[in-house]
Order: sequence, then structure tokens, then C-alpha cells
Amino acid sequence: MADYPELPRESTSTRRQFLKTAAFGLGAALTMPACSPSPALARGDEEKLGVALVGLGNYATNQLAPALEHTEKCRLAGIVTGTPAKAEAWSQKYSIPQTHIYNYETFDHIADNEDIDVVYVVLPNSMHAEYTIRAAQAGKHVICEKPMALNARECESMIAACEEAGVKLSIGYRVQFEPHNLEAMRLGREKVFGAVKVIEASFGFRLQNPNQWRLDKALAGGGALMDVGIYAIQAARYVTGEEPISVTAQEVKTDPMMFKTVDETITWQLEFPSGVVANSTTSYAAYVERFYASCEQGWFELGPAYSYSGIQGRTHQGPMDFPQVVQQALQMDDFADCILNDRASKVSGEEGLRDVKIIEAIYEAIATGGKVSLV
Ligand code: NAD
Repeated sequence: MADYPELPRESTSTRRQFLKTAAFGLGAALTMPACSPSPALARGDEEKLGVALVGLGNYATNQLAPALEHTEKCRLAGIVTGTPAKAEAWSQKYSIPQTHIYNYETFDHIADNEDIDVVYVVLPNSMHAEYTIRAAQAGKHVICEKPMALNARECESMIAACEEAGVKLSIGYRVQFEPHNLEAMRLGREKVFGAVKVIEASFGFRLQNPNQWRLDKALAGGGALMDVGIYAIQAARYVTGEEPISVTAQEVKTDPMMFKTVDETITWQLEFPSGVVANSTTSYAAYVERFYASCEQGWFELGPAYSYSGIQGRTHQGPMDFPQVVQQALQMDDFADCILNDRASKVSGEEGLRDVKIIEAIYEAIATGGKVSLV
């Protein structure tokens, strides 16, 4: 790893001691000693922070584990799964020793594993709070997938648990590390084309499989809004750099059987202090994925805006020219850097909480039919 000078090998506990020191800001500028190599370690890997993925579903399997092969400051060190066949397959594929494999009953023993520095919670939404809190109590830094939790109360208890344990918490907002989205943030916040006046930001897809937790309110907390609408909320906030002051919202349900307990399609309007209005749609019935900002002297847009790859952007002056990146690798490396240099993550628990509060306000606006204040 180029960022950290080589030092002689030391024991695992020395490495742990160093990481703890770095986390509290006392050794951040120093070098990181290496631990004894375990069978899972490739050359140089011993200097990286160890990440354990909790929940080996689609996102962990197809995005996060491959991304961890592109990270410079962290590596896949452990897994938590309730399925023995998955444990076996992952152990083979990623050379994960049996001592670094946990199930949901043995999860808390992760506290004793000094190779694991970060627990990454990739479970259904209703399990985010419990596993984030248990990971913090085990002394591990935590990345929790979006949406952070089912409600603001859960988010607050997750933040408190991490603070109490002295560990860092971040949310899996990968798009905040993507160059086209970063450019949109710059254009909006620096008012490059004058002040942003109107935003249209939407994200939806056609959900095909009726047998999944995303359609079960107890596990998902909500439907399209909590799953992908959250990207549109995020984008409106990070491009303006402002927090919304009020929201109105409307819901449409064309398939009441499939979407018996969760929302299918929602439109909402966020009003920001400077007068920006952000109009958004999210859906499990229609594909839509765009961000558009109309400014005083021009416009900029992203489309696709929030995908894992293929994001494109344009302004009234022409196309944006930025590389495609492995967003999750940048996101996880940034969190590792936050731990090593004792700095706050820009995708912190507080950031996750803000979005969940807005989601709650959108549901309230639908239920009441009125404008809900966010201040
Ligand atoms: P998934 O259904 O593919 O995987 C969920 C995993 O949780 C499975 O391995 C499943 O076995 C396990 N699990 C444990 N207990 C369970 C229970 N009681 N019910 C159902 N599953 C249980 O889901 P996914 O698409 O991988 O999503 C997981 C999380 O990641 C969600 O919070 C989702 O919002 C988030 N996600 C984020 C992104 C992103 O781009 N940041 C993309 C996809 C998913």
C-alpha cells in the first residue's frame, strides 16, 4: 500500500494498539505497523484494515466483495452469514479462514478478532440498527447500508452506540464518491452557473421478483422511497448544500396486491431555504434515473445519475468528461482513511439520520395531505 511506509512486522496486538491510537488521533500521522500474516493475507494486505461483510446477498456478493479487490486501505477479512453453503463458497473464493467466519448467533465473538477492524452491515433495512449497535459494542467501526434504519429513533440509537464505543460510523452512500456527482456538487454549491433555482431528481426501477424482503414493510420499512428514492433526496441536498425546510408528497399505487405493505410510486417536493424547489419521483413500477438542475445562467444534469457504473453528465456547455470508478472501493477506502486519520466521514451517521428524517416527513405529508415542516 503506497500511502503507508513499510515497517518491520509486529504482532497482531501491536497492530490493534496502533489502530486504536490512530483512531483517537494520537498516531494518525505515524506509520502503520504490520501484523503477522494469516492464510487469508496476500502480500501487502496485512497493512490494510480488515472488513467483515454482514449479509452475503446481492449487494455484498456482486458489488462489495469485488470492490474490496480494488481497495488500497482495506480488504475483505471476514464474513457473517446464516447460510453454511455461502460460508464455504466465500471461504474458498476469497481465502477466508474458518476463524473469520461468523453466523448471526456467533456474531458478537467478532469482538475477539483483531484482524477485523470494520463491520459492514449489508442486511435488510430492519436489521441495520441491531447489527450496527452490536458491531459497535464489539468495538468495531461500522459501515451501514442505506437507508440507515427504519426511523430516526433507530438512527439516533446507532449514532449513540458508536459514540459510546468510540468507533466511527458511516453510511453506504457510494455516489458521494463518484466524479460526475462530485462535479454536480461543485457546480451547485459554488454557483458556477449562478444559483440553482429548480431541481428534478428521480430514481426508480421495475421491481420484478414478488418474493423478497423489499416488499415486506416489517423488513424494509417502506418501499421505493426508502430503497432508491433516498438517492434523489441525497442529490438534492448535496448539490444545494442546504437542508430542506418543508415537504409535500403524493403516492400512487397501481398494484395494491404486490405493494400491499410498501409504497410503489411517490412524488415529492422539497423546499430549501434559498428558495430552491426539488421535485422528485421514486418508483418500483417504472425506470427513471436522473438529476437535473436549472440555474440562473444555465443548467447541468446527470443521467444515468446513481448507477454502479455508466454515469454520464452534461451541462448547457457540453458533456462532462470524468472517468468511471469503482464507487464502493473509493467509499470504503475513504472510511479506512477516516479511521486511520481520525477524521469524520462525509457520509456519517448524522448524514444518514437527516435523510431518514426527510423520508419520515414524506410519509407524513402523504398521510396528512399537507405540507410538513422540517425545521
Ligand atoms: P439481498 O436480499 O440480496 O441480501 C440480503 C441478505 O441478508 C441475504 O444474504 C440474506 O440471506 C440476509 N438476511 C439475513 N436475515 C434475513 C432476513 N430475516 N430476511 C431476509 N434476508 C436476510 O439484499 P441486498 O440487495 O443485498 O440489500 C441489502 C442491503 O444493502 C439493503 O439495506 C439495501 O438497501 C442495501 N443496498 C445498497 C445498495 C447501494 O448501492 N448502496 C445497493 C443494493 C442494496
